[in-house]
Amino acid sequence: MDGALTDRAPADRANDKGILSAVWHAAKDIRIERRVRPALEPGEVRLRVTRCGICGSDMHEFLNGPHAIPVKEPHPISGVVAPLVLGHEFTGEVVEIYGACGAVKVGQRVAVEPEYRCGACAACLQGDYNLCEKMGFAGLMGHGGMAEEAVVPHYMLHILPDAVTDRQAAVLEPAAVALHALRRSGLTAGQSVAVVGAGPIGLLLVQLSAVAGAKRIVVSDVSDARLARARALGATETVNSLSGHLPTQARGVDVAFEAVGVQPALDDAIQSVRKGGKVVLVGLFGAPARVDAFDLVNREVEIIPSCGYRHVYADLIGMIAGGLFDPSLIVTREVPLAEVVASAFERLAAPNDDVKVLVVP
Ligand SMILES: [Zn+2]
Ligand SMILES: [Zn+2]
Repeated sequence: MDGALTDRAPADRANDKGILSAVWHAAKDIRIERRVRPALEPGEVRLRVTRCGICGSDMHEFLNGPHAIPVKEPHPISGVVAPLVLGHEFTGEVVEIYGACGAVKVGQRVAVEPEYRCGACAACLQGDYNLCEKMGFAGLMGHGGMAEEAVVPHYMLHILPDAVTDRQAAVLEPAAVALHALRRSGLTAGQSVAVVGAGPIGLLLVQLSAVAGAKRIVVSDVSDARLARARALGATETVNSLSGHLPTQARGVDVAFEAVGVQPALDDAIQSVRKGGKVVLVGLFGAPARVDAFDLVNREVEIIPSCGYRHVYADLIGMIAGGLFDPSLIVTREVPLAEVVASAFERLAAPNDDVKVLVVP
């Protein structure tokens, strides 16, 4: 009987070809395959995905995962275990809703804030949902948006005004990481900033620091192409750390952002700030890092970690719609979903000058 069932395509399935999706099975094993279109649970929304960004964390899962992807136990909120549809930086149009979904309606363009939250733990109850005990991301701990369609809980959605393009909306998620880090820093107008690493988060921090009124923005990276991009986006000075020394050039800045996640970048960030300065950690470290605690005490340098984001999407959407900044300026390429393994994951694994690559389903 099982064979008979699988041999026959169900006649009532809305999309009987299945949903084309980029599915993580294991490290170096991302497959473009058609998946059965799932039924919606109450409070869930189905999107036709228009753009999905590829993140550094997606690359880590591809190269040597699993890191965040659940492979043994299902994630407590999503209930999903690998194989899993990747993609947490996505935007689309609502095509179906089920049950109470707040203000979300079919036909709306929406951006996805992909953090799962339980709504019941101490962190959730005080509004710090990025610190939820069961926190996770759609696209890493549950099915994401690197697919023709995605299903997400309605609380993740932000309705987009016409003034925000699909390309801009696809970069809202990394922009949210950057804005949360900026808020954690307490940066005020007229202060000076060092940004270590000119990847997507670093470049967005440059843009947002400029919007916040930073008078001096010093950026370091090992890629001259990325440093040129940083200058175009508002950096006042750049240092190639292969030949220069950030702490010498940036000495005494008020705030430094570590946006790489490696020991030398952390050292540069700490050594760049003034006495009483602040170092915000936003890079994801693959190994434990060391600090000179005596130096931190002696100079009263604050180390401030920043995880994900909370309560920043509405402000970001307003800033973009109002023309204050354009996060899509960090997009370097768009690739079709069917070609994402060869033209994105494999190419990005080799040295390259790409910043943000978007998948177009
Ligand atoms: Zn990301
Ligand atoms: Zn919670």
